[in-house]
Amino acid sequence: MRSLAVAATVLFTLCGSVHAQQNFDTVQVRSQKVAAGVYMLTGAGGNIGLSIGDDAVFVVDDQYAPLTPKILAAIAQLTDKPVRFVVNTHWHWDHTGGNEAMGKAGALLVAHDNVRRRMSSEQVNEFLQRTTPASPPGALPVITFSDTVTFHINGDDVVAFHVANAHTDGDAFILWRKANVVHAGDVFFNGRFPFIDLSSGGSIDGMIAAIDILLTLGDENAKIIPGHGELGDRATVREYGKMLKTVRDRVRQQKAAGRSLEQTLATHPTAEFDARWGTGFIKPDQFVTMVYQSVSTTRR
Ligand SMILES: [Zn+2]
Repeated sequence: MRSLAVAATVLFTLCGSVHAQQNFDTVQVRSQKVAAGVYMLTGAGGNIGLSIGDDAVFVVDDQYAPLTPKILAAIAQLTDKPVRFVVNTHWHWDHTGGNEAMGKAGALLVAHDNVRRRMSSEQVNEFLQRTTPASPPGALPVITFSDTVTFHINGDDVVAFHVANAHTDGDAFILWRKANVVHAGDVFFNGRFPFIDLSSGGSIDGMIAAIDILLTLGDENAKIIPGHGELGDRATVREYGKMLKTVRDRVRQQKAAGRSLEQTLATHPTAEFDARWGTGFIKPDQFVTMVYQSVSTTRR
């Protein structure tokens, strides 16, 4: 159990206590053009997707509450239109922290049913050893969907649709049909091993199934905004999906053969991927631990 305890401690330091330790005063919110009328904003927490145009501002995810003024200032550099919609890719604190302020300023908050359900009550994450209190009522999505919802805005058809039990049980991909852009939320971590929130219904098999769906959205030139990391494309998502499958298959083999987590970690199933994917906040052993705990040993 030692490696698991170490994994949890490191993670808690890096993300569990981020509210207490991070100085948001020093965070800069930057915008990057992705396609005509579509931008990615980075600051601290999950990447933000933005649609601007003749109608209004449409926002995907909103990082942390203290950053809302900086996010709104960055948006104001691009357009004088108000924020009318905020869609959350999932419930996590680093993607929904700005909800309350955005809602108060007049935005409609939209997300999958399970996002509202999880934000409505205290959530305990075993892996991160983190307890997240219920969100204030004003931060909760006011429109929820079970499968899909389409926004006809700024000359595009922007579709939010649910993918089952991947990073959490409430994930949505957001597809700009005309602009050929997808916001993949935390199903896609670019350049780093992903966090899979097993306590929120996430699973490695669901992550892999969702990545296969992601590769069908838009066309070969689609731009893909990850939950964390740099703007990606189909080539990076393919590489990421291959990494997920390879590690999952190796870990499943070990687990199916009755090997313990410690024995599986000792075989170092991520070895050739560590240089490319192992330098983010999820370290190789932590990723293997999540995969081991999650993987079904019944081949589907
Ligand atoms: Zn997340």
